[in-house]
Amino acid sequence: MVGIEKEVKMEYQVCLVCERRFGYPVGTLPEDTIICPPCARKIPRSLLKACVDPFSYALGLVDGRFIEFTEADIRGEWVNLKGQADGHGDHPLDKEMWGHRFFRGLEVRLDRIAWCADAPDGS
Ligand SMILES: [Zn+2]
Repeated sequence: MVGIEKEVKMEYQVCLVCERRFGYPVGTLPEDTIICPPCARKIPRSLLKACVDPFSYALGLVDGRFIEFTEADIRGEWVNLKGQADGHGDHPLDKEMWGHRFFRGLEVRLDRIAWCADAPDGS
């Protein structure tokens, strides 16, 4: 007797952090998955959420400073943190942190992030 072999269809994507191609059976990962599972274990879930769901977030750096931001964009070992779009093509951060508003976002090394929070002031 021959068993029924079920062919598993795979989807492939390029990880935004390690830039390796990774595959998974269709429908087993959320559509908004942007990085491979090994990289996802090293990055706060709230920071990954900020990449696909603009809202209110805050993170702290290992040196103790913190940053409030609205959306994030991960590329390799860096993440660009942005505020809300200002209607002129820029995404300044809300607070005048560190003496600047960083109109096009602030790029931070992923390995310098100590913590991250989704909706630090509630939703
Ligand atoms: Zn990866």
